[in-house]
Amino acid sequence: MCPVEGQAPNPSRGIMDWTKGWRDRVWSELNQAWDVIIVGGGITGTGILRQCVHAGLKVLLVEADDFASGTSSRSSKLVHGGMRYLKNAQIRVTLESVTEREYLLKQGRGLVNRLGFLYACLPGDAMPPWAFGAGLVIYDLMARQWTHRSYDTEDMRILCPLLTVPGLRGGFRYFDAQTDDARLVLRLLRESIMAGGLVLNYARVDSLLKTNAGQVCGVVLRDTSGESDRQFEVESRVVINATGAWADQLRREVGKAPRLRPLRGSHLVFPFNRLPLTRAVTFLHPLDGRPVFALPWEGAVVFGTTDVDQGTHLMTDPAISSAEAEYLLDGLKFIFPQLELTFADVCATYSGFRPVVDTGKVNPSKESREHVLWDEKGLLTVSGGKLTTFRIMGREALKAVRRHLGRIPFDPELPVLDAIPPEAEAACATSKFSPLQCLRLLARYGPGSAALFSASDADLQPVDGTIYLWAELRQAARAEGVVHLDDLLLRRVRLGLLVKNGGLDQMNHIRSIVQPELGWDDARWQAEENSYAELWKHAYRL
Ligand SMILES: Cc1cc2nc3c(=O)[nH]c(=O)nc-3n(C[C@H](O)[C@H](O)[C@H](O)COP(=O)(O)OP(=O)(O)OC[C@H]3O[C@@H](n4cnc5c(N)ncnc54)[C@H](O)[C@@H]3O)c2cc1C
Repeated sequence: MCPVEGQAPNPSRGIMDWTKGWRDRVWSELNQAWDVIIVGGGITGTGILRQCVHAGLKVLLVEADDFASGTSSRSSKLVHGGMRYLKNAQIRVTLESVTEREYLLKQGRGLVNRLGFLYACLPGDAMPPWAFGAGLVIYDLMARQWTHRSYDTEDMRILCPLLTVPGLRGGFRYFDAQTDDARLVLRLLRESIMAGGLVLNYARVDSLLKTNAGQVCGVVLRDTSGESDRQFEVESRVVINATGAWADQLRREVGKAPRLRPLRGSHLVFPFNRLPLTRAVTFLHPLDGRPVFALPWEGAVVFGTTDVDQGTHLMTDPAISSAEAEYLLDGLKFIFPQLELTFADVCATYSGFRPVVDTGKVNPSKESREHVLWDEKGLLTVSGGKLTTFRIMGREALKAVRRHLGRIPFDPELPVLDAIPPEAEAACATSKFSPLQCLRLLARYGPGSAALFSASDADLQPVDGTIYLWAELRQAARAEGVVHLDDLLLRRVRLGLLVKNGGLDQMNHIRSIVQPELGWDDARWQAEENSYAELWKHAYRL
């Protein structure tokens, strides 16, 4: 039970780093009356955090597992308008998303990058080429640009010699954008911490605190790190439920019936040498006419996705089903027959849950991707939407918070990300990195990138078969809030998705660098390695 009104004594202005002992420091700061508690450390919660922190509010974000460990590290990595939403006449979602894509491309250079797509037209497609072309005209007009064009079959094969599918009837080129979803979340978090926000991973909200009148006024928090079994009641004037596909679980606490329809989407990841694409290829899957995408990403190629009802059992680490894997491989074998791809070529898989509002459509792919905001007994739920539209969701959440807290500043010009600090840019310019590498590192690590530029020569070597440097693993282990080994290998860097065997073959080298940084003794290391291997085999291996 909370007092009717809480006053904030000595507001904390954030804990500036994620170095050793940071979680204990955050736990010791929890005993304050917060303006806003955000539950969920995915892109939605993180986008809201940025808006609230910059409005001068005292904000705490808590995440049950690792930051971005939910859907926000398991997307197709596209920052896109979504041609398929246009096909489903979801005009508002498409317009918002196209606008956000253009904005993010400008503000997040190096983290959000333009990506060329080839759409292959095939006999029997449910959508005739002229209809796709018309869609592209609208798509480009929404972005106030003219970048698409059509190609005949011969030109398509020149642009992508792998497109040996019989009957190809030409196609189109257009542009969208892609990112590293988990790194986008991490950069936003890091910048919000620097602006005064407090964040905590491995802290689950088990239940909600309520006033006598039944209004939500705080949360009961439990440490899920495995390092402690502490619990704490934390009061707040507003509680925001940004738990994505899990949002109905907290809504149940205020007596509300479920409204979400979690849909599982899965991907296969191939090494570049087995699927050497330099631009994305998209087509309608011959089995059901759904658009599917082969996307070059971080030196590998990701192919997806599926759209399957998950039901109510929402585990933390979903895995691809054999039916989904076969559906995806069939699509690839159809479009790139000469490659003779098999399951043995797959280096990893991953699955996530789309938080989609249930409107009862028979075909799950037809459900709207619009976001929702529900205010129920003081619990603000923000769910649905897309990675691409996180800024819009953050702004709408802040407006809803104002309805509870009264006049608080709202800056419509707030940039979506902070500018890269000039001292980091200067350090990079005088380092051994090429301008392209600088851009990548500065954009990914934001304020944390400076440390990378003074790394030793050994640390500046790439991790075999990847774009990552050993220095990135060291930096992440030292100062990026890693609690378990999978935080490091699946989200700080994405080795678990990008190399065969999830990086387990390189574990000795990984250990030599990160064990001392994490301060783990040998027994802890072994336990972490074992549980990473188990997790990877269960949720990321075919
Ligand atoms: C397969 C797939 C592909 C996609 N591709 C794209 C794409 O290319 N582009 C795009 O724009 N969008 C894409 N999306 C959509 C996008 O990824 C999601 O809309 C977005 O990531 C959802 O973010 P979120 O923060 O709302 O949820 P999540 O990222 O799932 O975050 C919610 C968090 O809440 C935490 N949580 C749950 N319960 C509690 C609790 N009780 N206490 C504390 N924390 C809790 C969870 O651990 C989780 O980390 C895709 C989605 C899927 C499934």
